[in-house]
Amino acid sequence: MTLREAPLVFSPPLARLKTALPTAAGPLVDTLGRPLRDLRISVTDRCNFRCGYCMPKQVFDKHHEFLPHAHLLSFEEIERLARVFVGLGVEKLRITGGEPTLRRGLENLIAMLAQLRTPDGRELDLTLTTNGSTLAKKASGLKAAGLKRLTVSLDGLDDAVFQRMNDVGFPVADVLDGIHVAQAAGLGPIKVNMVVQRGVNDDQILPMARHFRNSGVVLRFIEYMDVGATNGWRMDQVLPSAEVQRRIATEFPLTPLSHSAPGETAERWTYADGGGEIGFISSVTQAFCGDCNRARLSTEGRLYTCLFAHRGHDLRGLLRGVDAVDDGQLASAIAGVWGGREDRYSQLRGTAQAAAEPRVEMHYIGG
Ligand code: SAM
Ligand code: SF4
Ligand code: SF4
Repeated sequence: MTLREAPLVFSPPLARLKTALPTAAGPLVDTLGRPLRDLRISVTDRCNFRCGYCMPKQVFDKHHEFLPHAHLLSFEEIERLARVFVGLGVEKLRITGGEPTLRRGLENLIAMLAQLRTPDGRELDLTLTTNGSTLAKKASGLKAAGLKRLTVSLDGLDDAVFQRMNDVGFPVADVLDGIHVAQAAGLGPIKVNMVVQRGVNDDQILPMARHFRNSGVVLRFIEYMDVGATNGWRMDQVLPSAEVQRRIATEFPLTPLSHSAPGETAERWTYADGGGEIGFISSVTQAFCGDCNRARLSTEGRLYTCLFAHRGHDLRGLLRGVDAVDDGQLASAIAGVWGGREDRYSQLRGTAQAAAEPRVEMHYIGG
């Protein structure tokens, strides 16, 4: 069973949530003082890849039941929720999935979200994470709709390694082509995320660094994480960022950069010879829960306050049918969830408490 079937919960009840809204005195914060700034919206639980660390083929085979269309939030529902989240302090929206570009008419959603403004009138940072497989076709339409920039996931340059990683035989040349098209369309600076698995694709670290140096693309290495319950994660498959960095530094000396924004997941570095920026996301070896300001909205409208959460709060139920509420009540409900947030899984990883809890699948709540 995947955790999609976990029980719907909504706590604390709406009635007790009136006081949690942000006020002139300060922003909405959780129990650890972390503000709500970043909303990741999953627009589909489907994907055309079967990366072993995310949707292993043996589990997500032809018998796997994806969500029926009626369960998905509509674009209007997503826009309404995003608007309420922005009123509560969110400044960054990331569209994700599954593979978000598979959602039909995604450009229309982008166009709706691009109209949103912060309470003091600023544009949002509107971005998308994609496996890059459809970019050659879709990048210019996404840009025209108002997308600002994007992140492409790419786990190797060698075609055999990449095809083994995506497990559907998708050629690396098509993703590289998509990245070029997206750059030409003005969707830069593009970030490329590479999940590193020891003994699986760690031989691709240096080829990837060589390829993306001086290209305007920011390559970032992600430690393989224990998300979900289906990828068979083992600590010995995690190659710590420190080791990735050491390998790169043998060929290209690196200099540290400061964090660009609070809650930024990546440690930013630059090639000492001016070859551009490079980053490391060390969620396993150097937990960054301390300033985590990210909320996640699942494809069917549940709010998750951590990537490793096992329970979501059903917001869709507050949008539809007899339990439907107005925007003010919706804001109170979301503020109540955030105000009670205690999540810090990565800091607790390895403890009995963390091991005891089941976890939701990543393709469902979005990475
Ligand atoms: N399909 C899109 C893609 O791959 O970019 C968006 C969704 S995917 C779930 C979002 C990100 O999560 C990707 O960069 C992917 O590499 C990352 N991811 C998935 N499973 C992971 C794991 N077990 N450890 C680390 N990163 C993971
Ligand atoms: Fe699909 Fe992205 Fe998961 Fe790979 S990481 S299986 S591309 S959702
Ligand atoms: Fe944020 Fe949860 Fe990741 Fe910690 S483990 S950084 S709280 S998403």
